[in-house]
Amino acid sequence: MAENFHTDVLIIGSGPAGYTAGVYASRAMLKPLLIQGIQPGGQLTITTDVENWPGDTMVLGPDLMIRMEDHARAVGVNVIQDHITKVDLNSRPFRSIGDRGNTYSSNSLILATGAQAKWLGLPSEDYFKGHGVSACATCDGFFFRGQDVVVVGGGNTAVEEALFLTKFASKVTLIHRRDELRADKVLQKRLLENGKIVPLWNHVLAEIEGERSPKSVSGVKVKNTRTGVEDRFACTGVFIAIGHTPSSELFVDQLASREGGYIVTEPGTTKTSIPGVFAAGDLVDSTYRQAVTSAGMGCMAALDAVKFLAETE
Ligand SMILES: Cc1cc2nc3c(=O)[nH]c(=O)nc-3n(C[C@H](O)[C@H](O)[C@H](O)COP(=O)(O)OP(=O)(O)OC[C@H]3O[C@@H](n4cnc5c(N)ncnc54)[C@H](O)[C@@H]3O)c2cc1C
Repeated sequence: MAENFHTDVLIIGSGPAGYTAGVYASRAMLKPLLIQGIQPGGQLTITTDVENWPGDTMVLGPDLMIRMEDHARAVGVNVIQDHITKVDLNSRPFRSIGDRGNTYSSNSLILATGAQAKWLGLPSEDYFKGHGVSACATCDGFFFRGQDVVVVGGGNTAVEEALFLTKFASKVTLIHRRDELRADKVLQKRLLENGKIVPLWNHVLAEIEGERSPKSVSGVKVKNTRTGVEDRFACTGVFIAIGHTPSSELFVDQLASREGGYIVTEPGTTKTSIPGVFAAGDLVDSTYRQAVTSAGMGCMAALDAVKFLAETE
């Protein structure tokens, strides 16, 4: 049966931003409700080794997110399994509706719905995700020291990922379906001058090949977009760098946003264009996109909400 809830702070999202906001809001005695969404734990639940979370030399992404959830519950966050399908920000208390018909009214709202990397949609890409296929060079580049990798894409993200990977990989092949990049000229220049990067123009990634047990990438099949001719070459890592989509569809028409659908926040804060609504993590951040930066913003959002509630009530 559908239920009605009221809270001082509603947190939408259960990634590092959401759980951290929950911990801080709960410790400020605000009795927050946190809605997990259809991906409890967020993006880190689809990866394996995380080696840049402070305090853990290595932790599995899903394990880290279970620990964050346990921490949030232990300090009193009411964690609810639901997915928000509608948000009304026209007046306070804000009103959010869940998938099962539950209504959540809240005096403040923390949006932490994250983002999703764009993928090509190849079955082999899905199969090898986390086992040689990645969408984050900052996260996974370190695992490919001295190896040959490919990057797919032609925009700023792809060029930045390729340049970053040259710190570790012995060779980076940039696969791009056109014969020129969309990236900023200065990035293009750096890419073309880098001896470790080999652009493969007018090609698309057709398949990722590898071993099944243990899962590992051994090469790729590529296809020439002009001639249709297919080719194969060896590599151990594939980085898909065709962009990210912030999960902002529920609020993008109600809040100030910028290109790509990222929610805009006041610099140095998590305040959105509507007082009492705060946004954190990959939903606002197209630059850093890390667990630790998202957690940091989650903390800021909770502290901003505490201040807002103290000043308004
Ligand atoms: C494969 C992979 C590997 C990565 N590896 C690393 C790494 O090694 N180190 C690192 O620092 N970062 C890594 N990242 C990046 C990191 O995962 C993200 O930066 C981080 O998870 C963003 O946190 P977030 O809280 O903003 O959102 P997310 O983790 O994206 O979580 C969003 C949450 O919002 C929920 N949600 C969305 N819509 C709704 C809705 N309508 N109603 C309710 N809930 C909703 C989802 O269910 C989810 O729980 C990796 C990312 C990927 C994809």
